[in-house]
Amino acid sequence: MAIQSVRGMHDLFGDDLAKWHAAESRIRRVFTEFGYGEIRTPALERLEVFKETVGEDTDIVQKQMFLVSDPAIEALLDSLKRGEREASKIDTALSDLARVGERYVLRPEGTAAFIRAVIQHQLHRQPHAQRYYYYLPMYRYERPQKGRLRQFHQFGAELINDPSPEADAEVIVLLDHLYRSFDLKEYEIRVNNVGCPGCRPKYREALRDYFRPRLKELCPQCQERFERAPLRVLDCKNEDCQRIASAAPIGLDYLCGNCRSHHQGLKTALTLGGVQFQEDPRIVRGLDYYSRTAFEFVSTLLGAQSALVGGGRYDGLAERFGEKPIPSVGFALGMERLMLALDAKGTLAFDKPRPSYYFAPLGNAAFERLFPLSLELKRRGVWTEIGYERGKGLKAMLKQADRAGALYAVILGDDEIGRSVAVLRNMQKGAQEELPLEALDDQLFRRIHRAV
Ligand code: AMP
Repeated sequence: MAIQSVRGMHDLFGDDLAKWHAAESRIRRVFTEFGYGEIRTPALERLEVFKETVGEDTDIVQKQMFLVSDPAIEALLDSLKRGEREASKIDTALSDLARVGERYVLRPEGTAAFIRAVIQHQLHRQPHAQRYYYYLPMYRYERPQKGRLRQFHQFGAELINDPSPEADAEVIVLLDHLYRSFDLKEYEIRVNNVGCPGCRPKYREALRDYFRPRLKELCPQCQERFERAPLRVLDCKNEDCQRIASAAPIGLDYLCGNCRSHHQGLKTALTLGGVQFQEDPRIVRGLDYYSRTAFEFVSTLLGAQSALVGGGRYDGLAERFGEKPIPSVGFALGMERLMLALDAKGTLAFDKPRPSYYFAPLGNAAFERLFPLSLELKRRGVWTEIGYERGKGLKAMLKQADRAGALYAVILGDDEIGRSVAVLRNMQKGAQEELPLEALDDQLFRRIHRAV
């Protein structure tokens, strides 16, 4: 079999990519209209960026990261393998290793990398809220299935320097507006409050007390992690865990006064923003860094992987990099899932770009006239194509013009040259007219510019 792309990583081209472009430009527009500016971070980060932030107990850190080996390590292994006797070379490789001394990972999610960049560039040292968005590929070593890939793409928004519940509401309203602008309404907005470092320990204790007598019924992974990360049992996908978790104590009952009023503030702001939502105590999100607000948009159009987008507040994330807390809220939405939902509805209109003119020269003399003309029009911003193969008949040329999806064919043969005209054929209607060869480029240019 011919060589294949890596499992769970796909090529994108043709009509599918044209749809992505249409969706991407709409999403970028909405972000811009809401005041979010783009940030791009590198694909490779130091392992600690995620290890210390996303959480040791999370699937991402435990088993889903693509580690990238350092060239210094490779060089050392290589020289050892070759039985390199030259001590100096091994010494150099070892000192390179000591200098690098770290491991890299392909970015599995955007938020921790974003906060790393915020701190590195001191973006939070501004007196007011800052709004950023990113659009980047993510890499997770997951078992691929519909809507779950190993390379996937996320649009994310991050609003920093604002601790208020209205900031949380803003990003949810943005998302609701965004999906609706795609005519997508088949989703539920589920919100929760997962507490703060002040009140969460009490809730975690209550969960441990609840799960302890039922420990044997939990899946092996939850049995293992329930002491360290009892909240994670709540969003375990195992059926037994879900059944037991359905009667577990509810986090909202354990919130401290500040978290409770934050939650109330969020609900009020969402209502003022005209957004319908549901409270769902099971939304705890897989990652460690969330505090207070956590939310997901869940769609019936998606099958098993039903989350369109997930997000929440992560004020404490910066502390894991040794900084003071940075009040922040954000989300990450999966492009592949959005496209699946739009395909299920079949509503995404997209413009397939097409050439304006297909030049059909019938013979050498015609080619020498049309070739410079087609290049000149390209330079003026008009998409033209030309049949390079001389000696093809008119029928074959028109077939190519049709295949290229051109709006018009420009036909030129010896007869037309003799009469100083060219034939313009409307490819959709089949109607033809003659244009003077004199200043043909201007005539063709104006026709397209008038049309748009
Ligand atoms: P997470 O970063 O896991 O909170 O995921 C946020 C969003 O990214 C999800 O709601 C999905 O839309 C999307 N997503 C997460 N993991 C994958 C994956 N493996 N393949 C495709 N989309 C994903």
